[in-house]
Amino acid sequence: MIRFEHVTKKYRGTNKPALSDVDFEVQRGEFVFLVGASGSGKSSCLRLILREDTPSEGRVVVLGRDLHTLSTRKVPYFRRHIGSVFQDFRLLPNKTVFQNVAFTLQVIGSSRAYIQQAVTEALTLVGLDGKQKRLPHELSGGEQQRVAIARAIVNRPQILLADEPTGNLDPATSIDIMQLLARINEGGTTVVMATHEAGFVDQMKRRVIELKGGVMVRDDRHGGYGDRSSLPTLAPQEEKGAAATAALTAVLELQREIAASTVDGTTAVPAAAVAEAVSDAVAASAVAAAVAVAPEVSPPLTQPPLTREPADAPPSEPAPSTRPIHIAAPAVEIEGLDLDGLGVADRLGLASDDDEVGPTS
Ligand code: ADP
Ligand code: MG
Repeated sequence: MIRFEHVTKKYRGTNKPALSDVDFEVQRGEFVFLVGASGSGKSSCLRLILREDTPSEGRVVVLGRDLHTLSTRKVPYFRRHIGSVFQDFRLLPNKTVFQNVAFTLQVIGSSRAYIQQAVTEALTLVGLDGKQKRLPHELSGGEQQRVAIARAIVNRPQILLADEPTGNLDPATSIDIMQLLARINEGGTTVVMATHEAGFVDQMKRRVIELKGGVMVRDDRHGGYGDRSSLPTLAPQEEKGAAATAALTAVLELQREIAASTVDGTTAVPAAAVAEAVSDAVAASAVAAAVAVAPEVSPPLTQPPLTREPADAPPSEPAPSTRPIHIAAPAVEIEGLDLDGLGVADRLGLASDDDEVGPTS
């Protein structure tokens, strides 16, 4: 389901590889912890799985697709099979719980009835029915992460990636979130969760892949964190730039959907949804101006733009199954609406001149 074949990842301008000769395979339905200290390469692994980045050496195969040969225009389809959850939730602050979960379904033009059913089911699964009309700031951190998880699974992805999903939560809430992820896994979804928090890993007794300085030092089928000597004690991090990140996420997701729809010609992107996302992003720029933006959000904007290639063959992927929310997306210009040209990233303070970025915890 996910295979790393001797993967080495070296970022431009760095000497030491972020990942060195990493080699593992995750089977369908597994629950795998990716553990290691900050900077050990966990997020790099997840980005490779999502094809937000490519290896310097070696091969990454996900859902039967060699990501090296996956054409750029197929990337949006590929990513629909993968849900993502992050440490900082990345919810749209001025949308209700229901709207946050429904958003991407609306963008791709799912019917109102389908959206109602899918969102209600997802919110029930994460234990948030009854809170559909709340805004994110009216929820606890744990509840916000539940919304993000509902959003990630609303389209039933085959894989759920979680990058330090409990990093901003207190221990009791973290355990709730872990149990929720375990339940999702029991439903058949393959789950890969990056964490540097030892306690939960021990309790879960699941497979553990441990990285140290980019090198895979352990692949343990039955859990336990192992060497904790290099682990920092974790203090909850202040949430920074979350509104801006969420808004940009939505805009970039739209760009992806637009790119996808230009390929198969079947997916309508309602103009209202586009306008709304852009206005969210611009509104959030005020927030962005006032706060520092988390370092994780800067690099992907340097990706080359998607070209609007003609559809020379029907897409091989099945009907949409998920709309993962990511921050990396190519710029797309369509129907006279140049989202990139709106300078959204600039206005949010998220654009960068180069792809240098610090550790992403
Ligand atoms: P983790 O998620 O385990 O904290 P990361 O995968 O974020 O680790 O980072 C692994 C190493 O790669 C770190 O040394 C980090 O500084 C470096 N790194 C991550 N992303 C980039 C990037 N875009 N450019 C340069 N170095 C990077
Ligand atoms: Mg990380």
